[in-house]
Amino acid sequence: MNLILFGPPAAGKGTQAKRLVENRKMVQLSTGDMLRAAIASGSELGKKVEGVMQRGELVTDEIVIALIEERLPEADAAGGAIFDGFPRTLAQAKALDLMLEQRGSRIDLVVRLKVDDEQLLKRVAGRFAESGRPDDNPESFKVRLSAYNDQTAPLLPYYENQKKLVEVDGMGSIEDVSTGIDGALEASSR
Ligand code: AMP
Repeated sequence: MNLILFGPPAAGKGTQAKRLVENRKMVQLSTGDMLRAAIASGSELGKKVEGVMQRGELVTDEIVIALIEERLPEADAAGGAIFDGFPRTLAQAKALDLMLEQRGSRIDLVVRLKVDDEQLLKRVAGRFAESGRPDDNPESFKVRLSAYNDQTAPLLPYYENQKKLVEVDGMGSIEDVSTGIDGALEASSR
């Protein structure tokens, strides 16, 4: 099973992905986590992406596609992946479809966490203080949100056409959202 968790920044994708990893035999592939690890390690890649990420802009398709390609064998071994924060552009979505196809696999489901903008802003305002993430500040968050609206949200029709898109209300508690995701997964496997 390969699942994409889709939604704007701070929609709760990472939190929900971690919960799915605990409950199902899947691995979480978060390009954001991979990039933050590269920065923490002081690697060339880390140095290259640090400024872009801090500003809240997207790093190049080439970089994130290579990261996913490297980690897909792990997902194969575990029986599937939860893609968290990838794909974020149409080029990434097409590259992912191709990579999976070459492995005799596919995306099974795209779960869109729906959160309204007002709620999102409330969530991040609370998070800025304690997050420690250099891109969790009002200026970078604004850029991240426009990157989502301009470059990532246009993927929704791509997955809708493939009949893979389901929407889950992302406004409730962590438990409520988890229940919504479980329901979507069960409905899709019927
Ligand atoms: P995230 O942890 O998913 O919110 O990602 C944090 C930051 O990493 C983003 O704001 C981008 O700068 C970068 N990033 C993560 N994933 C991608 C991606 N799939 N494409 C482009 N940039 C990404």
